[in-house]
Amino acid sequence: MTPNSIYIHIPFCAHRCAYCDFNTYAGQEALIAPYMDTLIREIESVSALQPNSVPAHTIFFGGGTPSLVPTRHLLAVMEALRHAFPLTATLEATLEANPGTVSARSLAEMRAAGLNRLSFGVQSANPTELRLLERAHDFFDVIQSVQWARQAGFERLNLDLIYGLPEQTLQNWQNSVKRITDLAPDHISMYSLTLEQGTPFGRWAARGLLPIPDPDLAAEMYEWADEFLAGLGYLQYEISNWALPGQESRHNLQYWRNLPYFGFGAGAHGSMDGIRYSNVLRIKTYLERFSQPAHRYSYPLSFANVDQTRTAPYEAMQETMMLGLRLVQEGVSDTVFRARFGLGIADAFPQELADLLRLGLLEWQKDALRLTPRARLIGNQVFLRFVGE
Ligand code: SF4
Repeated sequence: MTPNSIYIHIPFCAHRCAYCDFNTYAGQEALIAPYMDTLIREIESVSALQPNSVPAHTIFFGGGTPSLVPTRHLLAVMEALRHAFPLTATLEATLEANPGTVSARSLAEMRAAGLNRLSFGVQSANPTELRLLERAHDFFDVIQSVQWARQAGFERLNLDLIYGLPEQTLQNWQNSVKRITDLAPDHISMYSLTLEQGTPFGRWAARGLLPIPDPDLAAEMYEWADEFLAGLGYLQYEISNWALPGQESRHNLQYWRNLPYFGFGAGAHGSMDGIRYSNVLRIKTYLERFSQPAHRYSYPLSFANVDQTRTAPYEAMQETMMLGLRLVQEGVSDTVFRARFGLGIADAFPQELADLLRLGLLEWQKDALRLTPRARLIGNQVFLRFVGE
């Protein structure tokens, strides 16, 4: 039986960073307590409708800034999850945290609540870059947070970095990578900056006020980091993720393998029993929905649901390719694909496969189809072939 995963969205931040397009809100701290109570109601309402008792093997508190939430609320949600769903003995329970929003005490309380993995949004070790990103922490906060996390008993730590920033030099990037590896995390995520429409960064760039990052330099940063991390024993297992052996994020693997997960909270997405769904975005509407549900809902949906689609079989195959090819080592296993859909990858996508193999963008590694190393930087173009664009 494939275990489930659980995503919990915490849409609160102390400040809205200029590059961010996540569903998160600043200045709404007064709503944290009612929001966390409503989250518990949502979890209970879905588990009450669950027709089976499939266990969950990962929980992920993402945001937003989950570490802003007082730990008593996190503890209450963890308790509710334990009552609502069977959890595996090897549960991975991750919380995203911003350095500077945690203390030795709060981390010890989180660990006691059953969280066992932290993901810190470091972004850069360079003070000028952190200011540009409008992040409130400095690198000293990162060192301190990692130290407190270890003292609290967190053995699994992810550190996030962003590259391809306006005016970022290769040297500054190398320095950031080296400084986070000095802290010996077992997992590192590195994302290239995207200038999203609707964010201040996107608007400033469109008006010529923000120097557009040089894509060639960003590619050089990515390739350098991959080589450097490989030398330290980190294996790149996904386009933007590196881990020491056995320390991959099991929660994110669930997404990339196109396996089921619940989404709870404002703006959360879920994929369960062949239905993809999403919840209402705004915190106040989420709270109002609980007292006045907009319509009748059935498993796996809740009062917060605003959108749902039953995934057609061909669409599920397309999603499996788009997501699975992000796993640069594992790729998409033809045997697993065949067992799930009743036909092989080459039967489902004959033309796409022939073209991409001929162009040297995909390769077979025994039973698995995966990106070639040179295709990793243009992965999106490969994925789009599978959705007919
Ligand atoms: S702290 Fe993170 S989630 Fe919050 S606004 Fe900044 S980038 Fe977005």
